[in-house]
Amino acid sequence: MKTTKTPAKQNKQPGIESEMNPRPEVIKANYKGAGKLKDKVALITGGDSGIGRSVAVHFAREGADVAIVYLDEDVDAKETRKMVEAEGKSCLLIKGDVKKPAFSKKAVENTVKKFGKINILVNNAGMQVPQKDPKEIDDKQLEDTFRINIFGYFYFAHEVLAHFQAGDSIINTTSVTAYRSSPNLIDYSSTKGAITSFTRSLATNLAKSGIRVNAVAPGPVWTPLIVSTFDEEKIKSFGAETAMERAGQPSELGPSYVFLASDDASFITGQVMHVNGGEVVNG
Ligand code: NAD
Repeated sequence: MKTTKTPAKQNKQPGIESEMNPRPEVIKANYKGAGKLKDKVALITGGDSGIGRSVAVHFAREGADVAIVYLDEDVDAKETRKMVEAEGKSCLLIKGDVKKPAFSKKAVENTVKKFGKINILVNNAGMQVPQKDPKEIDDKQLEDTFRINIFGYFYFAHEVLAHFQAGDSIINTTSVTAYRSSPNLIDYSSTKGAITSFTRSLATNLAKSGIRVNAVAPGPVWTPLIVSTFDEEKIKSFGAETAMERAGQPSELGPSYVFLASDDASFITGQVMHVNGGEVVNG
């Protein structure tokens, strides 16, 4: 992630997953697929790295073909494609900016053109720029954060609904920061609150159609977003505040997206699954 994340000042970690040390775990070696997403087609924004990559590989192991949207991290995107192909499934790479409504239309059209349909949307692309002083959040930062983190979710949801049928579903990535204070991420956590409300309202609007909408609220997870935006001090203690006193791995997030996308969650809509190392939150 180069263009939308502000490089943290004293931070030596890159925003590219293939250069992270240690590398995040994408999927647990003992994760067994059970055909839960057999013959489904999923589009995952922010699918090149971190949580999105893990979702792509889990979905493939469960039998789905995937399209991944990413901003500019070609190396990570190609690596994710390789991982999906190693599961015996296809992966379409779609490079572009989720801030642009025309791009979401093109991305969904290209997915349908390639695979003949689309069943699952994972709205997951996101950015953050930590600021200790709220006055430092300028108009550009505020606008970019909202356009990427929530406007983009609207655009993609709008486009897939033209193709979705009963049984299909949307999963949005929100954050634990929507449920508790995050003093250095005021604009970011505001967008995550908006995603939670978006999930609930869209879900109830679509409930009768059989299309489900849910969200996952990760706690601290070891991904490029973290190492490229926080300073070294924060990175060193990242996750220590959780009940488990550690950050999660993307491999610990992927299975919840599988569950929410699969028929196992057929009576679940408008809900948020909290995968956060034990922080008890309400709602
Ligand atoms: P990541 O850096 O691996 O993923 C972020 C993704 O967003 C990248 O793939 C990037 O290509 C994409 N992206 C950013 N701006 C974009 C744009 N303008 N157009 C297209 N794509 C764009 O980091 P991650 O931690 O896996 O983040 C995935 C989601 O998880 C984000 O929504 C993030 O807010 C959320 N989240 C992460 C954590 C955490 O601790 N890592 C915690 C809570 C929520």
